[in-house]
Amino acid sequence: MSDECRHEDCKKVNDLLSEFLDEELKGAVLLELKEHIEKCPDCHLNVDSVRKVIRLYRDATECDCPVDIQIRLKDVIRRAREEETGR
Ligand SMILES: [Zn+2]
Repeated sequence: MSDECRHEDCKKVNDLLSEFLDEELKGAVLLELKEHIEKCPDCHLNVDSVRKVIRLYRDATECDCPVDIQIRLKDVIRRAREEETGR
């Protein structure tokens, strides 16, 4: 397996990460991502950390937290994704 190939898959995971975590993906795409995430430690870590932030974010919105905290959490999620995809 070449690094390039691996990178393409990682990019795909990043591109579809929010859909994946929102459980909006179905069928072959979902299977493909799940398979890759299980095999790739980078993506595994990435998914894990974003999932944690999203859970925090959801708890925060459910608790009616101040809007600026919600915005900050959104920002953290966005930046975490940009760090992975932005190069
Ligand atoms: Zn990966």
